[in-house]
Amino acid sequence: MNAILTLGERDRVPRSPPWRQSALDLLLPESGLMLRVQGTTRCACLASRDPVSGSVYAAMLLVFAAMPLWVERALGRSSHRRSAGSPQCVRKSLQGDDAMLELRPTCEHCNQALPPSSLEARICSFECTFCADCVERVLGNVCPNCGGGFAPRPIRPARRWKDEAFLGRYPASTTVRHRAVDPQRHALFAAALRDIAPEQR
Ligand SMILES: [Zn+2]
Ligand SMILES: [Zn+2]
Repeated sequence: MNAILTLGERDRVPRSPPWRQSALDLLLPESGLMLRVQGTTRCACLASRDPVSGSVYAAMLLVFAAMPLWVERALGRSSHRRSAGSPQCVRKSLQGDDAMLELRPTCEHCNQALPPSSLEARICSFECTFCADCVERVLGNVCPNCGGGFAPRPIRPARRWKDEAFLGRYPASTTVRHRAVDPQRHALFAAALRDIAPEQR
């Protein structure tokens, strides 16, 4: 019993202070201190225990020992659920092998074409894609979807320079995401953000 309880406590209290062992002695009737007080042996103490309550006691100790593992798993599951429920621009980021930058074909606001070689394409960290003109004149360098700033979109090599890392193997997206921003609504949203540098947001 003492071993099970100690196992359960191990994760939360890496180094048991000396008083903890004394506390365990007091809590566990069959452990050292109580045995010494009662003047009996460990076997006699276990034999005298009622079988039903003894089993329940053992089961409770096992549950207690397993609790840190359950909590850890529950936390893992809830963070997985959060990522599944995130907005579309956030969700794409963890899809394993195919999770590279999505080269979107047009500006989300004005729908101007932004081919992979365009020097006008701007993206936020979630790949929301706008043209340089809209970022400057309409958005004030505040992404309407996440509040972050923008940076020039990197150019994916058109030719195969190394392995399969080129546009022919990983082509630009053809999915147009034209969702024009309402300038007045965006002005309200951006008012508190546009004077804060992106690295401070
Ligand atoms: Zn635009
Ligand atoms: Zn964004």
